[in-house]
Amino acid sequence: MLDQFDRNIDYMRISVTDRCNLRCRYCMPEGADYESHEAILRYEEILRICRAAIGLGVRKFKITGGEPLVRRGCTELIAALKALPGAEQVTLTTNGLLLGEHLDALCDAGLDAVNISLDTLDKEKFRRITGFSLFRPEDALALLRRCCDRGLRAKINAVLLPENRDEVCALAAIAAEKPVDVRFIELMPIGFGGSLERVSPDEALDALKRRWPDLHPTNEKRGNGPARYYAADALLGRIGFIDAVSHRFCDSCNRVRLTSTGQLKPCLCFDSTLDLRALLRGGCSDEQLQSALRDGIFRKPRAHRFDLPQEITEHRIMSQIGG
Ligand code: SAM
Ligand code: SF4
Repeated sequence: MLDQFDRNIDYMRISVTDRCNLRCRYCMPEGADYESHEAILRYEEILRICRAAIGLGVRKFKITGGEPLVRRGCTELIAALKALPGAEQVTLTTNGLLLGEHLDALCDAGLDAVNISLDTLDKEKFRRITGFSLFRPEDALALLRRCCDRGLRAKINAVLLPENRDEVCALAAIAAEKPVDVRFIELMPIGFGGSLERVSPDEALDALKRRWPDLHPTNEKRGNGPARYYAADALLGRIGFIDAVSHRFCDSCNRVRLTSTGQLKPCLCFDSTLDLRALLRGGCSDEQLQSALRDGIFRKPRAHRFDLPQEITEHRIMSQIGG
């Protein structure tokens, strides 16, 4: 459906949990509180919201979190979502730690693509960024190979950080080995991301152009998101940039978010949400649910104000929102 600024909203990011098995320092460092189990939407509640959203023209769903694969039954949810008439695409964003054990079942469930968050290939840096000391880069690369072998489209997402600014080319080189897109995400001033040093995407692009001088922008459509893509002859995959702060892409934003506690969140920057859980648990009809959803989507704000910290009203951390 069209929102008040005539943008076609056809994509919903669904957080299935605020829990995670990592503690990325820009997202959910040590000590963060979790929601109670009762506060989290049940899968049948999520599916009911998705049915209503499909009725309004939403066609693509991304399962995220927290870490979605720590919630039991995530694969079954994906299979059920894929079975909904009108759901054209269901994809997953994960830190990859549990992906190996779920990969075959996820492929069988019909998962269309996976984004794997991987900020570094260095064991010690991985520990510094995420708190996890058992990371093995060879496991991450083997997992990617398995995704490719299974025919599952995979992308790497790396947040640009002081820790990995010297590793941009090493991460991008994954796209030289495998048909995998590697995307660099500019740190957003949400939650702990607001207090950390931001590395400029232009700095990363300069480094990449020194390594691959023929790197050039491409207009190919590679996913549902706002990434700007670059290609080079030596690269099988593409290099992407998701730079919400320095290259605002709100005019073409096509998404809304559903938090794990059932809040419809039209824009990352603002705390304004619509409490769909209260509606569902208050016994609303399907028509009432869809009408509330329509209003919530229609009122999506025109643009974020990440450039003006005093105008950012969202103070929850990313794992509570669903990145
Ligand atoms: N746990 C899963 C993962 O890491 O992919 C899914 C949830 S995580 C919140 C989704 C994405 O948000 C990850 O790629 C993560 O790096 C990114 N992210 C978290 N906090 C961010 C921030 N402040 N700025 C930019 N990206 C952020
Ligand atoms: Fe967990 Fe993903 Fe947040 Fe890292 S970015 S703490 S893996 S939810």
